[in-house]
Amino acid sequence: MGLISHKNRIILLLLKGALLVLFVGLLGYGVGYFFEKKKYEVSISSPGKNPSILCLRVEFPDHKMRMLDLEWKTKLTRLIGQANTYWKDQLYGTFQSFQEPKISAILTLNEPADAYLDDLDKIYQDSAKAAKAAGIAVEDFDHVLMSYPSVTETEKAWGSPGKIWYPGEIIEPPKLVHEIGHSFGLGHCALEYRDSSRIDPKSPPSTDPWFMMGEPSLLFFTPLPLPMRFQLEALTESQVPLLKREPGKKSETLRLHDFRKSPQPGQHAGYRISGKDDSTFWIGYLTGPEETFDAGGLFPVTGLVVQRSQQYLVESYPATKEKHDIYPELLPKRLGLKKGEQLHIKSGKFTVSLIAEGADEDGHAWADVVVDFGIS
Ligand SMILES: [Zn+2]
Repeated sequence: MGLISHKNRIILLLLKGALLVLFVGLLGYGVGYFFEKKKYEVSISSPGKNPSILCLRVEFPDHKMRMLDLEWKTKLTRLIGQANTYWKDQLYGTFQSFQEPKISAILTLNEPADAYLDDLDKIYQDSAKAAKAAGIAVEDFDHVLMSYPSVTETEKAWGSPGKIWYPGEIIEPPKLVHEIGHSFGLGHCALEYRDSSRIDPKSPPSTDPWFMMGEPSLLFFTPLPLPMRFQLEALTESQVPLLKREPGKKSETLRLHDFRKSPQPGQHAGYRISGKDDSTFWIGYLTGPEETFDAGGLFPVTGLVVQRSQQYLVESYPATKEKHDIYPELLPKRLGLKKGEQLHIKSGKFTVSLIAEGADEDGHAWADVVVDFGIS
């Protein structure tokens, strides 16, 4: 808009695109995939009882971990401590922490590393056997983390309900936080770029660098999206009310509070709107990075965000114009509607507008939003 010439705008756009490619490329260093489709009843904590976690250090006869045992234990304990802080913060204290991790001695699997490369289930089965021989029953634990020497060049980590595969050489805390999310039963976040209904946890469409269950960043603790807070029962239905489409009612003005903080009685962390095919649209509001766990200030999500959830996939709706070449568009937009902006969700048949922003006496930020069902 305005002062920048067309040519300069193109150069600027290319530059920003290149920056983001670099950024995403760095992120691409390690993705964890959620690959179990079956419905998993998640219990992140039962009253008075924190979930237990077992950490198994497993090695292959022909491939040992580079790290010394004490160093590994120290690192893992620190990573789990950081994960505890993240999940407690994002789930408003409904998750407190894991129990003191049970950490195994070094267990050696029967077969050479090559036999396990692409077979995570085999790693789990044989790790469980090795643990049993050492007097540890994996069934006694809510979550089992297997730490083993990196056998692939990319040092990928994985998670599925109750299980985490985490090569011992990985040191990025956000990545463990992401895999723990899968262990809790969460799927993935994707960027909205084609309004798709594609749900395939095995190969997430395009990972979302803005939220934790998207592409896990190497450095930043991105926020947990609104639908996933609800999925893990940190929010109740009345804290995220369902908006009904009623005949004659064209639009509604709503106040919602920044969902990074727990809503006080009577406050709403967001709103839900039913979509097609069992999907739900979530309207949420986020303000700037002022907490410990955030997008580090480099790429914070601020403003109004609409997210569509279906099964294990959460798609975020920024105000993108291009369907495929979104990155240059996203970067200046920073994902999130600003005051005065409007977003039309075609597949949901509604429009949202952010009309006012403010904060309560306690500093909890709010936004007034108009949802219009009258535009199709
Ligand atoms: Zn993942």
